[in-house]
Amino acid sequence: MNLDYPIWHPYTQMQTAGMPIKIVRGEKEFLYDEYENSYIDAISSWWVNLHGHAHPTIAKAIYEQAQQLEQVIFAGFTHQPAINLAELLLQRIPFHQKIFYSDNGSTAVEVAIKMALQYWKNKGEQRHKIICFTDSYHGDTFGSMSVSARGVFTQPYQELLFEVCFIDTPTNDNSTAVTAQLEAHLNSNTVAAFIFEPLVLGSAGMLMYSAETLNTLLEICRQKNVLTIADEVFTGFGRTGKFLATDYCSQKPDIICLSKGITGGFMPFAATTCTQEVYEQFLSPEKTKMLFHGHSYAGNPLGCAAAIASLQIFESEKTFEKIKQIIPLHQQFAQAMRAHPTVHSVRQHGTILALEVKNKLRTGYLNPLSDSLKKFALEQGVLLRPLGNVVYIVPPYCISAQSLQQVYGCITAFLDKQ
Ligand SMILES: *Cc1c(COP(=O)(O)O)cnc(C)c1O
Repeated sequence: MNLDYPIWHPYTQMQTAGMPIKIVRGEKEFLYDEYENSYIDAISSWWVNLHGHAHPTIAKAIYEQAQQLEQVIFAGFTHQPAINLAELLLQRIPFHQKIFYSDNGSTAVEVAIKMALQYWKNKGEQRHKIICFTDSYHGDTFGSMSVSARGVFTQPYQELLFEVCFIDTPTNDNSTAVTAQLEAHLNSNTVAAFIFEPLVLGSAGMLMYSAETLNTLLEICRQKNVLTIADEVFTGFGRTGKFLATDYCSQKPDIICLSKGITGGFMPFAATTCTQEVYEQFLSPEKTKMLFHGHSYAGNPLGCAAAIASLQIFESEKTFEKIKQIIPLHQQFAQAMRAHPTVHSVRQHGTILALEVKNKLRTGYLNPLSDSLKKFALEQGVLLRPLGNVVYIVPPYCISAQSLQQVYGCITAFLDKQ
């Protein structure tokens, strides 16, 4: 890194990282640097992009909205794009009636946590415990870190994180134990909420568990009257093959967090949706019962316009057909990789594919395999960013079969020389 480079980058050891690649434009699944080198964006630029880079429909929607109204205070004022988006999103989440806007995944989670805690306060009940999975990741702000795994991401701040109740992350063979752990916590009647990443724990290394298990956990919470919060920040908007990952379950969460793909990957934007029941606990003649939360850019009209355009693309470009075409290719590659001598395990759900590479070294996020594969892939014109020794593909839905094969080939070539 040049000493006079002025930017401090996220999740980057600035001393050892090389100079970042300067990207000047994007189109479909491709990013282009200042020398016109192209990179297939196999991770949707940190899981946000859905329909391709610089998609003209979304770009136009933002441009036209910016000429009308770029931003307005969202207390005491509203605007048509915010209302239209609320209606469109709630149509797809018919068991929810209200939507609260914010501007990133971590804040969507903060809002959900504060809704759940204050819900019980407003009801006059002493419930403040939150249950989460031991490997969960819900964001980088203090509340969202508190409900996340105690690990390398949170270690420097751990003294100040609030206490939560952890239950094991579900796997293929521990669902009885996890269910029992949840039930044991719920016996105390002090639990406010259970927060979870539905079906796929992204940052933990694309850990996956069954909808059946999740359904059981949701059912138990429902019986004990405990609020459930689905963090769909990553899994939402078609990632797992349905609009939401919780669409695979018959039991429904009380609160849902959405961000990342919400604008098709164009704008920092987020939403937290909830049931009428949750909302009504905040209604009172007393101002003290209102939700004490708001961000400067809440309900930003440009974000709303981008999100509406993205939802329209789902229809006009038959995005779910594109998703359906990715899945069998992923499955085929997954099958081939299961036999590869360097591969420990393969996980796939919808458009998400992950390979856990065998490694003698300490596994986990700091595993050096990540840097070596990242470098190898860039040289081949592929953008990958493994989570330690977990190599994953989370492509934009517009990716061509040819580009996907190139990504598979790149990973195979790297693993062949291990
Ligand atoms: C990325 C992510 C977040 C945090 O979103 P940011 O926009 O990065 O703050 C929260 N929850 C899940 C499941 C995520 O994958």
